[in-house]
Amino acid sequence: MIENYQLSPHFTFFELTKTDKPQFQEANRDVPDEMLRNLYALAWGILEPVRVHYNRPLHVHSCWRCPLLNRALAGASSTSQHCYAQAADFDVDGIPSKDLFDWIRLRSRLPFGQVIHEPPSTVHLSLGKPIWRRSGEALRRFADTDEHGDVSFRYERIE
Ligand SMILES: [Zn+2]
Repeated sequence: MIENYQLSPHFTFFELTKTDKPQFQEANRDVPDEMLRNLYALAWGILEPVRVHYNRPLHVHSCWRCPLLNRALAGASSTSQHCYAQAADFDVDGIPSKDLFDWIRLRSRLPFGQVIHEPPSTVHLSLGKPIWRRSGEALRRFADTDEHGDVSFRYERIE
């Protein structure tokens, strides 16, 4: 039986390891030590600053994905930062996701690796390679089109 605990002031282990696929829930809480270190870095390094900035509940939809769970998700890449406990998909209570996305990429100065707006309501945010390397503010912009033809943008920090 795995027990819940706080990873950081606002985020629990269960929150960052949950899945909406109940058959994988237990496996997804058997987190290897090196991935647990990444979960702590993610919680303290980028989720807490967003939570504290808005001072509203931040709802994590999906964070760590064990290999079994990731394989079960249609279209999920095996190189996704979710598979390294370095990325979280979330929303912030009452904040339009486009505003959240714009604040993170333009003004937050967070040491993130990648931020992606996933309309209608989700932002994907990941750690940069080493979290302490805040090299420059240059971002490369990519336009993505979803199945409805809607365009969203993602930004990658240029090393
Ligand atoms: Zn994601």
